[in-house]
Amino acid sequence: MGVTIRVDLGPRSYDIVIGPGLIAQAGAHIRRLDPKSACAIVTDTNVARHHLGPLTASLDAARIRHASIMIEPGESSKSYAGFATVCDAILSGRFERGDFVVALGGGVVGDLAGFAAASLKRGMRVVQIPTSLLAQVDSSVGGKTAINSPVGKNLVGAFHQPTLVLADVGALDTLPRRELTAGYAELAKYGLIDDAAFFEWLERNRAAIVAGGPERIEAIAQACRSKAAIVARDETEQGDRALLNLGHTFGHAFERLTGYDGARLVHGEGVALGICLAFRFSTRLGVGTGQDADRVARHFQAAGLPTEIRDVPGFNASPDAMLDAIGQDKKVQRGSLTFILAHGIGRSYIAKGVDAADVRSFLTDEMGRN
Ligand code: NAD
Ligand code: ZN
Repeated sequence: MGVTIRVDLGPRSYDIVIGPGLIAQAGAHIRRLDPKSACAIVTDTNVARHHLGPLTASLDAARIRHASIMIEPGESSKSYAGFATVCDAILSGRFERGDFVVALGGGVVGDLAGFAAASLKRGMRVVQIPTSLLAQVDSSVGGKTAINSPVGKNLVGAFHQPTLVLADVGALDTLPRRELTAGYAELAKYGLIDDAAFFEWLERNRAAIVAGGPERIEAIAQACRSKAAIVARDETEQGDRALLNLGHTFGHAFERLTGYDGARLVHGEGVALGICLAFRFSTRLGVGTGQDADRVARHFQAAGLPTEIRDVPGFNASPDAMLDAIGQDKKVQRGSLTFILAHGIGRSYIAKGVDAADVRSFLTDEMGRN
């Protein structure tokens, strides 16, 4: 039933295993990596309720010492305070440099635990056990770890590749529907970046993927193959890897201007809206077509994702405030704006030196759409 994908990074290579029942087998997998290691599990209270018991049982069965560190669910845990709490808890649990930090949860747990692992004792090993769709197709793979600063999202972090990724698709059965939908945006992103055939396949199979079953495993595997290939080409984002930010420059600005309040907008929703804007902006700049922009919006709308600014409840920031928030994004270099734009579906590219005035007038029109 399972699929294994290798991320090829020389001495930092690792496997992504995708399939059902992997949390219950985690102990055996970790024992195979290192029979003498101990595990500092980082998880949040939502995930712990459903999945911590089976994980600790499997570590017990493999005779692996473990301790669990619980964080509050939500983006606000990716903070300096959250980072300090996790680091201090791991240190006081007397874990060695060679032990594992095990990140059991969504992207918040993965980013926070991953950054703690990168920092503690100048680098502990990390096993990612992603439990949200977003984390399974994106954040658990590729080694980006970070916390947020009051200045902006993900601005304090490090590249730190995991030693193993166990994507247990069964964990998605307890994921709230809204989070599953949000993760779908990151899944579709891979088709939109450079794989039009995958996007077409998603158009035909979205309902089956949402329902579970073999299409879900295949979709996650294909996303991980894409991400693994991009990361292998450009581990530290000197070039191509920036394509993974499709929709994120706009998306992060919406997240910022809604105060990272998950009740209003979660990350994947911001990405869906951001991707729609990137395609419409591409059309406006004359580099993409309106048909493709409409097709993307139709797909996301059918999935239940936001595609228009008015879909964000109570959003009334001005175009200038939007531009300001975009300017905080770390992809801005020396005053010129970098966006991921698209010549079409599966034909995204990195556009440097985008004129802020074009962005402002585009956003002004977008805010007037209804
Ligand atoms: P999240 O970790 O907040 O999870 C979403 C919600 O679902 C949380 O309330 C969580 O408790 C709950 N949850 C997760 N798995 C569950 C399960 N199986 N059952 C029940 N509840 C479950 O958010 P996310 O969407 O997974 O990740 C978003 C974060 O990922 C953002 O901080 C973003 O910046 C980061 N991210 C990082 C990368 C990267 O490359 N490092 C890439 C994309 C996103
Ligand atoms: Zn993302």
